[in-house]
Amino acid sequence: MSALLPGSVVNGQPVTLGVMGGGQLGRMFVHAAQAMGYYTAVLDPDPASPAGLVSHHHIQADYLDEQGLAQLMQRCAAITTEFENVPAPALLTLGAHRFVAPGADAVAIAQDRAAEKAHFVKCGVPVAPHAVIETEAQLAAVDDDLLPGILKTARLGYDGKGQVRVKTRAELATAWAQLKQVPCVLEKMLPLQAECSVIVARSGTGEMVNFPVQRNLHRDGILAVTEVNPGVIDPALAAQAVAATKAIAEGLQYVGVLCVEFFVLEGGQLVVNEMAPRPHNSGHYTLDACDQSQFDLQVRALAGLPLTPPRQHSPAIMLNLLGDLWQESGTDPDLRSKLGSDPNGCPAWDRVLALPGTQLHLYGKLSARAGRKMGHLNITGTTPEAVRATALQAAAILGIAPF
Ligand code: ADP
Ligand code: MG
Repeated sequence: MSALLPGSVVNGQPVTLGVMGGGQLGRMFVHAAQAMGYYTAVLDPDPASPAGLVSHHHIQADYLDEQGLAQLMQRCAAITTEFENVPAPALLTLGAHRFVAPGADAVAIAQDRAAEKAHFVKCGVPVAPHAVIETEAQLAAVDDDLLPGILKTARLGYDGKGQVRVKTRAELATAWAQLKQVPCVLEKMLPLQAECSVIVARSGTGEMVNFPVQRNLHRDGILAVTEVNPGVIDPALAAQAVAATKAIAEGLQYVGVLCVEFFVLEGGQLVVNEMAPRPHNSGHYTLDACDQSQFDLQVRALAGLPLTPPRQHSPAIMLNLLGDLWQESGTDPDLRSKLGSDPNGCPAWDRVLALPGTQLHLYGKLSARAGRKMGHLNITGTTPEAVRATALQAAAILGIAPF
């Protein structure tokens, strides 16, 4: 495909980039595409989807709706996806007529934990000891060494959903029943020293660039804090994580932005956890701390533009803003006065934004629920220590536990 130059006209229409899915990742893709002069189209059934609200076109249809897909193709010169559970048949339909990146094959692998792990192994990257459980016989044959472990549904899990921690064979059987005996992967519970992730972008011609390794803190299975500065991960380990991520992307002949998440074990070994065939929550700091964000690179890869290595110009910390921050302060008057939130339960953004180097990103979601990703706060500064001090102040104002 020749490059879709920003601001050009294709078949009598301003060149338009499309995205399957209208969540916050789609919204930030739309912002990046529009900043470069592209028109955008979003397909998402939700009339108030975060990306649909800001796109030139919002096709409100189900992901498998033929008319909706036809409209998206009619509008768009190239199409990407913003969540990994876009049905693979939809991507195949679109891919038959338009440039679609990442392709249906790569997305299909990322959608299935068992297939994903098999791909990692094929690329020579160590995975957690695990077993696939699809039948009673496989359940019975599980090696005791995998316990205690985490039973995870092979498909459709995210933010710690679709996972049960199990200590014994009896708990394992109960957990599988609780998960309705859908295909699962049982993973041995590993002693984690840290978690980190790497984001790469790969073009249709095989150029690949990467962001620095991000250190991630999860709470209740949900990303809470990402910290990125040269000191956060041992350099040798970081180099290993980047090399592994590139091998995984290369092995998929991947086009677009890919994130790979890793565990750093207490002994210092690196083990791959999972991948996301799209920009990732752990890369949101790139919006304010790098010369190009992960969404800029997603746009470039989709449009067939050159990829140049992104440069981080400031140390950064990202705090995820979950719905809990609204609910807690919204329901309890004492807590509200302590946290300084407004009477509608909206956190005290004015106090947070009084701290130097803070950038607020909210996704336009109208209702806050516990665990729902409402936005994120990026903190940048001249030194890692200064960034950390500010981030801790912001966390204290918001009622986020210190880290
Ligand atoms: P999700 O798709 O919901 O992000 P993950 O498989 O990444 O699911 O698990 C969420 C979090 O749970 C991880 O980031 C990690 O903190 C913890 N976790 C997952 N698998 C293991 C494991 N095998 N050992 C220890 N902790 C784990
Ligand atoms: Mg994860």
